[in-house]
Amino acid sequence: MSHFNIRCRKCGKELQEVYCAFCEHCVGSLLVTEYSSEDPFRSDREGLWRFDWLPVHDPLFKQPGPVVFRSERFASSAGLENLYIAFNGYWPERGGKIESCTFKEFEAAAVLQNAKENGVEGLIVASAGNTARAFSHLSVISGFPVIIVVPKMCLLEMWYLESSLAIPTIAIEDGDYADSIDMAKRIARIMDMPFEGGVKNIAKRDGLGAVLLEAVSVMRQLPDHYFQAVGSGTGAIGVWEMAERVLRTGKYGSHMTRLHLAQNLPFAPMVKAWESRSSELSPNDLRPELISEITTRVLSNRYPAYSVQGGVYDALKSTGGMMYGIENDEVIEAMDLFEKAEGIDIVPASGVAVAALLRATKEDKVKRNDKILLNITGGGEVRLKKDKGRHVVEPIFISKYISDENIEGIICDHLKKS
Ligand SMILES: [Zn+2]
Repeated sequence: MSHFNIRCRKCGKELQEVYCAFCEHCVGSLLVTEYSSEDPFRSDREGLWRFDWLPVHDPLFKQPGPVVFRSERFASSAGLENLYIAFNGYWPERGGKIESCTFKEFEAAAVLQNAKENGVEGLIVASAGNTARAFSHLSVISGFPVIIVVPKMCLLEMWYLESSLAIPTIAIEDGDYADSIDMAKRIARIMDMPFEGGVKNIAKRDGLGAVLLEAVSVMRQLPDHYFQAVGSGTGAIGVWEMAERVLRTGKYGSHMTRLHLAQNLPFAPMVKAWESRSSELSPNDLRPELISEITTRVLSNRYPAYSVQGGVYDALKSTGGMMYGIENDEVIEAMDLFEKAEGIDIVPASGVAVAALLRATKEDKVKRNDKILLNITGGGEVRLKKDKGRHVVEPIFISKYISDENIEGIICDHLKKS
């Protein structure tokens, strides 16, 4: 018997055997997982799989989990007494074993295991960088085939682990992250392999929500505040849904965690929409030319899960949440401050979250002794480079105007060769 059901957030209908879909009556409303156990932790498994609230039954490979610790040095420099850091990356001294250096590894592990258990034989994944590295790594670890699509503009900041270099990766020469998503959907249709589903994939959200479960196991309660930088918003939605499940058990406090989400200016469509309390993004804030001006290309999604029912807008509204627009120089400053205090490098997206926390502290949006969870969604890249090396991705370049026949030919040729 399965330990979970899937339910439509809008009409409440229970669905069975659905994979990355919407409810038939409520297109535009996310499906959520409901777990039968009251206790999210299990003692018979390790790493990520020790969380029972994941839509997987029999994980066939090992996956390290998140690391959460109470900060001393950075907390005191920020004037905070109860700051907990979720570090998702490579930091051997702290137990950080995530070699792809991103929390997207939890998403990839949960998605691939869930896909396998659903009889899916391979997936097409769109990414602006981190997701590509996480999925290519997990494809090797789990033996589950994936084809990865990225925008060429993100290649400069991209790297793979050595073992992942053979994973087919396609780069769109003339497009951004949104064009990569469009192309991934086309390739999925042509190759008859499903698209990973983006925010619609419950395994993706629940895998990312594991960060909150680790925090609850360390803090023994729900945090008062949660800070994260958002691109698609999928991770923040996953954390919000997980916090709702934890709250329902009544065992870890009676207050919902407040979400504090941040984007890098000038490309900050969700910040702009939230400032005007609008549930719709403005096309003016989604102009592709804004993307070239930000430090954090991984946050450059023009299709974020903001307006969808159960998405970022709803998450902010229901938790009394806040959004922060962070300038490039604040990002660099925050990264530097964090590294000097904690002794580990973090990626620019994490710098956006750190800067948001510093601003919230300054503006008294959080109190000195509030219990705060800061999600460092990626870090330890410099450290990993020193210990294990990082590798340049060598993709197959295509134009977004390529014909279907040509796409099929190029991919089949590549698969034959490798
Ligand atoms: Zn429905």
